[in-house]
Amino acid sequence: MQIIDGKQIAGEIKLEIANEVKEIIAKGHRAPCLAAILVGNDPASETYVNSKEKDCHEVGFTSKIYRFGEQITENELIEKIREINADDSIDGLIVQLPLPKHISENNVLLTIDYKKDVDGFHPQNVGRMMLGLPTYVSATPDGIVELLARYNIETSGKNCVVIGRSNIVGRPVANLLSQRTAPGDCTVTICHSRTKNLKEICANADIIIAALGVAEFLKADMVKDGAVVIDVGITRIKTESGKYKLVGDVKFDEVAPKCSYITPVPRGVGPMTRISLLKNTLKAAKKEIYQ
Ligand code: NAD
Repeated sequence: MQIIDGKQIAGEIKLEIANEVKEIIAKGHRAPCLAAILVGNDPASETYVNSKEKDCHEVGFTSKIYRFGEQITENELIEKIREINADDSIDGLIVQLPLPKHISENNVLLTIDYKKDVDGFHPQNVGRMMLGLPTYVSATPDGIVELLARYNIETSGKNCVVIGRSNIVGRPVANLLSQRTAPGDCTVTICHSRTKNLKEICANADIIIAALGVAEFLKADMVKDGAVVIDVGITRIKTESGKYKLVGDVKFDEVAPKCSYITPVPRGVGPMTRISLLKNTLKAAKKEIYQ
């Protein structure tokens, strides 16, 4: 059994990006720039945006954070996004979710210029991903595929089961792995809350991607010997000692011994998700996808 070390791979990719940024600057161009919009005072959102800013600075990007109070109207926010869309000094723009209830997330995300949509949530970019065209792939699916690639895990012809059908993880990763690519060429089954015989379906899988958000859901009797298990879930649970810890969707201690490869939580998919945003921002700065 080999543990897939997402933290280490993420560190390696960060160095690659930092080197590329140095070359860009040496050629006389400005550093790539990521803008983030944060509305309200949600502590988790605050933490996410701060870590994204830290990541940017570590690889030599510049970053701008636009903070607004809860009371900002949808129109005011949309106006701000239009300003950033038109600002040539900014390459990528993300709006940290969730937004306050009086603001439509859809209206906001559709306002972001798809050329700056480095979260890959705009229909233009989702559509291009579905068609297998160059695009900004959303962070978590991209991170999962990158891990499979960096560990040279054979995916062609394999039965892959994805548990979870969200727009940001389950369905895009299922789509990517079904494409005629490497990694890819899988026979993919998407399971969800209404799936019958989930245990049997999983027990037949060569690759399982658990993205349902139910702590320690995947048990040893649902996994066949030699399977590759990618654990996307992150849940904070209280331990017997009263302390909190992060666990995934996989009961790691009992599943890991049966696997050929497995991602831990933390240090698995999470760090890769953060890296994908940097990859997309670099692509935007280089105008690799759109002019
Ligand atoms: P979501 O709640 O939008 O979707 C969960 C999906 O799981 C749904 O499609 C649902 O049908 C399915 N599901 C729920 N219970 C199920 C069950 N008992 N059996 C089968 N299917 C079931 O969640 P999401 O946004 O896709 O995130 C999933 C998990 O991944 C969460 O724990 C989230 O915190 C985590 N996550 C981690 C990262 C990361 O960087 N590691 C990124 C995004 C999400």
